[in-house]
Amino acid sequence: MPDPNLQFEKPVVIVTDDEPLLRTFLSALLEEMATVVEAESGEQVIDMIDETAPELILLDVEMPGMSGYETCEKLKSNPKTAGIPIIFITGREDVHDEEHGLVIGGVDYIKKPLSPGLVRARINNQLQLIRYQRELERLATTDQLTELWNRRHLLEIAGNELGRYRRYGHTFSVALFDIDHFKRLNDTYGHAAGDYALRECARLMSDAVRSQDTLARIGGEEFCVLLPDTDVDGARQMAEKMRQRVEDIEIAYDDAMISFTISIGVTEVHADDETFEAMLARADEALYNAKAGGRNRVELTP
Ligand code: GH3
Ligand code: MG
Ligand code: MG
Ligand code: MG
Repeated sequence: MPDPNLQFEKPVVIVTDDEPLLRTFLSALLEEMATVVEAESGEQVIDMIDETAPELILLDVEMPGMSGYETCEKLKSNPKTAGIPIIFITGREDVHDEEHGLVIGGVDYIKKPLSPGLVRARINNQLQLIRYQRELERLATTDQLTELWNRRHLLEIAGNELGRYRRYGHTFSVALFDIDHFKRLNDTYGHAAGDYALRECARLMSDAVRSQDTLARIGGEEFCVLLPDTDVDGARQMAEKMRQRVEDIEIAYDDAMISFTISIGVTEVHADDETFEAMLARADEALYNAKAGGRNRVELTP
């Protein structure tokens, strides 16, 4: 069976040329492998970029108004669009032009007159590379067992949140979760049942968080949620909701009905010079108190 994660929707490709005939020609060529959006100028590409979210942009070099090179430089200077690969299409023969196109960030340079087979093959290669890159990014940021985010991704998001806090004072909180007596669950039902319980727990928690929250598995049976724009009280409410959900659920595995609980430590960012490690350590202290206080409960840092 093919890996479902490798099956993507058709990528969006913007085809830019001031000549309508060329756009039509390229669109027809790419129709099978991509969702093609046509643009007649560099300005139009810039305007439509947010809405279309292209995976690849084909840019004619010579166009009235912004040239292909200028359009490329503009896209590369904006962090939001800098990562979009660009292929130049050009009537220019000069090798220095080709060099220039690649130096300013183009990934390929296709010369007119266009040979359909060659154009298709080169664009297909580029789309394949984009797919691999996406898959690598996914693997590098997700936890394999639960498909939640992993620790690495959480740390990256936390870095951004700390930046927002220092610059604009936007607060945020973290909640650290740990399954209670998980070793016993493994010992009683087996490791595979434990894995299944971890996945079910992840699913329950995913349903409880908002889209702007980052939920990650950061250890064996440890999870962490980062809640932007949320004070410790809001985080406590969310944590309590999750705790209740997990407590209420019984998981059917083989012939067994398995139930378990979680303990949660919650804390809010509170100093300009604080590191995320310090926040996690504080949440961990609260979690320790939750365990010591009898488990299946939420504790805050003082
Ligand atoms: P406490 O209530 O104090 O948290 O007790 P606990 O048993 O949950 O804590 P402990 O840290 O002693 O044990 C954690 C267990 O989690 C031990 C380890 O075998 C198990 N574990 C860690 N990762 C995985 C995993 O990926 N799958 C399974 N099935 N078990 C795991
Ligand atoms: Mg032109
Ligand atoms: Mg643990
Ligand atoms: Mg545990």
